[in-house]
Amino acid sequence: MVKTKKIPQRSCLGCGLKTNKQNLIRVVRRPDGVLVIDKKGKEPGRGAYICQNVDCLKEAIRKKAIERALGEKLSDDIIVELTNQISSN
Ligand SMILES: [Zn+2]
Repeated sequence: MVKTKKIPQRSCLGCGLKTNKQNLIRVVRRPDGVLVIDKKGKEPGRGAYICQNVDCLKEAIRKKAIERALGEKLSDDIIVELTNQISSN
């Protein structure tokens, strides 16, 4: 890992705006193909980012942006988990 003073910026899959990685929820496709919410930022695998905003989540789901980014279908479980995660923040 390269150390840098800048906070990494990532684009939200819902609204498309770039923001600090810390403000986004990361969904990771683990090497075994399972999608998980990366709460600690430590999961290996391909990541997709969404603002902590239910509207962004809905938009990302509507556009199938997460599925396209990760190449894996979103299960109802992960959608519920994401919604809960966003609502609790
Ligand atoms: Zn957003």
